[in-house]
Amino acid sequence: MGLDTYLRLQKRMGLMIGIRILVIPIIAIAALLGFAGLALGQEKISASPARMEDRINALSHFGATPKGGVSRVAFSNADLEGRAYITELMQSAHLEVRIDAAGNILGRRSGREDGLPPILFGSHIDSVPGGGNYDGDVGVIGAIEVIELLNENNIETRHPLEVVSFTDEEGGLSGSRAMVGKLSKEALEVVSHSGMTIGEGIRHVGGDPDRLDLALKNPGDLAAFIELHIEQGAILYEEDIDIGVVEGIVGIRWWDVLIDGMANHAGTTPMNRRQDAMVTASKLVLSINRIANELEGRQVATVGRIQAFPGAPNVIPGRVAMSLEIRDLDAEKMQRVFDLIEDEAIRIANAGSTRIHFEELDVASPPAPTNHVMRDIIASAANQIGLTYRRMPSGAGHDAQDLALIAPTGMIFVPSVGGISHSPEEFTSAKDMANGANVLLHTVLAVDSGALDVSSDP
Ligand SMILES: [Zn+2]
Repeated sequence: MGLDTYLRLQKRMGLMIGIRILVIPIIAIAALLGFAGLALGQEKISASPARMEDRINALSHFGATPKGGVSRVAFSNADLEGRAYITELMQSAHLEVRIDAAGNILGRRSGREDGLPPILFGSHIDSVPGGGNYDGDVGVIGAIEVIELLNENNIETRHPLEVVSFTDEEGGLSGSRAMVGKLSKEALEVVSHSGMTIGEGIRHVGGDPDRLDLALKNPGDLAAFIELHIEQGAILYEEDIDIGVVEGIVGIRWWDVLIDGMANHAGTTPMNRRQDAMVTASKLVLSINRIANELEGRQVATVGRIQAFPGAPNVIPGRVAMSLEIRDLDAEKMQRVFDLIEDEAIRIANAGSTRIHFEELDVASPPAPTNHVMRDIIASAANQIGLTYRRMPSGAGHDAQDLALIAPTGMIFVPSVGGISHSPEEFTSAKDMANGANVLLHTVLAVDSGALDVSSDP
């Protein structure tokens, strides 16, 4: 999605969430701690900020741009080099590495009960063109850091653990979609930034697009999925909070909106006899903004594109085409926002002797809430190691939204300085990266010891 839209969205959310009081479910956390309490001394195990930063810097060489970021689009040579580096790190951490049919890199560490479903954690290392050095990368380097810490402290888990670096996150969540059986044949034909189709790209990195069924995970195949990621917005940074406990990835719906009036001479048509599609569109834009603002909650609605026809200074616009996007964590809420907009549109259209038509596009992604017990586990992990945290939605898409379909899924955010992302200016401090890895470690350990089985229904 566009960076501007995204940043605006994040900012809005920040303001709206900022005035809400954080309510910490103390009782649930206490229960979780009691059940999945860390073994003696485990809370002292701590990720190495220097090692993580060194590795982020090393990874940043692959696809480095003069501006200080990376262009490491999926399937490019830079991506292949980055993947080789990650594979090497996984192997040196004694993980058993394989590439699945979707091209995802998976590194496995055996568990005491190796037949149990694995706990999967990781993120992606591909970037947008002209991207930064932290988006996705922190989650993969952080996941490997967790393995290093377990190795160094001779901790054996009950479940097998798997570190994942997903294929082509930025080009449409290709690797994670394939893993949950949602990468369509049509998607495989889409040409990626590398110039290859996604199908060709998957083959290029060692997968097999004809056998994506081999990469498929069904409900029950994974004990859990946990993704550490930079926030890519400014909420944590501005509020000076260490950790974001992600409540879910917002759903997105898009419409094409057509407003029809009548094109006419801008000089000879009196003001009271016009059917001006642009005037109707303008009122509608303001109404959309007002409706999304006035409703309680964190929904956002945006008109990001508008075009008038015929588009001449001396012609009253007979037609306007514009976009409408609605996002929220709650599908019913998204529908309610749209219903209100539609009601208002009818009123506005009639008042201006125009017509408004909404056509929904087939790009919707439903809201993907994270597992509520997982949220409590992440919150208690942060709490236990003395970090501040807050619950928050993710306005950006992530691999976690796919995995949430088949496994108890949690997501951990760390601050992005200035809220900047998809840019060479993207930055997250070594300390924040290490904080994130520590929370990931303790979350993995809590899940391993059965914390997901504790009901924390409020
Ligand atoms: Zn990402």
